[in-house]
Amino acid sequence: MTDALLVLNTGSSSLKFEAQRYDTFERLAWGQVSGIGTDARFSARLAGVDAAIATPLASSDHDAALVAVLDFIDRHDDDWRLRAIAHRVVHGGLKFVEPVVVTPAVLEELGKLVPLAPLHQPHNLAGIAASARLAGHAPDIACFDTAFHARHDPLFQRFAVPAELYERGVRRYGFHGLSYEWIARVLRDTRPDLAGARVVVAHLGNGASLCALKGGESVDTTMGMTALDGLPMGTRSGAIDPGAVTYLLRELGWDAARVERTLYEESGLKGLSGLSNDVRTLVASDAPGARFALDYFALKVAQYAATMAVSMGGIDAIVFTGGIGENAASVREAILARLRFLGDVEALVIPANEERMMALHARRLVES
Ligand code: ADP
Repeated sequence: MTDALLVLNTGSSSLKFEAQRYDTFERLAWGQVSGIGTDARFSARLAGVDAAIATPLASSDHDAALVAVLDFIDRHDDDWRLRAIAHRVVHGGLKFVEPVVVTPAVLEELGKLVPLAPLHQPHNLAGIAASARLAGHAPDIACFDTAFHARHDPLFQRFAVPAELYERGVRRYGFHGLSYEWIARVLRDTRPDLAGARVVVAHLGNGASLCALKGGESVDTTMGMTALDGLPMGTRSGAIDPGAVTYLLRELGWDAARVERTLYEESGLKGLSGLSNDVRTLVASDAPGARFALDYFALKVAQYAATMAVSMGGIDAIVFTGGIGENAASVREAILARLRFLGDVEALVIPANEERMMALHARRLVES
């Protein structure tokens, strides 16, 4: 009997999973259900096996997706015993500042945060509800993208709006916390010389943000109340003048759904280039829009990195992570070129591993 942990990352149209050994966190299997809501497909890999498994699913909702994952785990090795299921939850609000075992009361509280992350939170919670129904023997553990930023100084939590709005939750929370927490951990273990250092961590993937990591703790980050703020991303705008939003609503007569769709899905690298949100495509392209989008991205990352440096009173190192940060050397170079005036800043690349961070949290909670 091998004790295992299941890590789930449920989005609007996909459910990614990873099964790990409980004792060593070695990956046993991983994969995803894509096309949830349209035509769902399950694909998976088993450690030590070259061939991938891929099958279409008869039903395309979140329940069916999770059933496919649980079936796969049952079928492929009846010796795995799930000790816990860790779920990535985008928003923990004010209450959830560390991972928790999910109870019906917790689930209800998390539901109240849906308006703060309308495009992510409902799917995260659907995954937990399905898991509680279908795999009740293993505790569900919620790990929050906001939690690592929860101890920010009020200077970094406020928008310059009336206090009443702050009290009603209109404030900066920050995201990608599980990624930053993992990076902080890797730095602590592998670079003790940077223990007290001022490090800007650049999580550059489909979503992108920066974290000001001082002495291993998050002191500031570029995302705010929602995952739309800060850097331009694959399809998200990042920060724009809030007056532009009211202009769209009032002068152009757009409704909130259209504003949201444009800023979340049609903007960023995709909107700037008119071509693609994928940096691989942009790097390979000669189109002027592609070059402009990449220049713009590098400029904004560098500008915000300088902002993070101010928040920490300086900068000693910059860590790149995420699909772009890890793989796109030319993008890293363009960012570093714009930061060269800051002098001696060490640049590192560390692979993102939110799954491992979640498994660490889950095991700690199972044992406590
Ligand atoms: P997510 O935020 O969904 O986890 P990732 O961290 O996997 O996303 O990042 C995905 C992005 O990384 C892709 O859209 C692509 O732009 C970029 N990327 C991945 N591999 C490469 C590569 N070899 N070269 C350049 N960019 C890459």
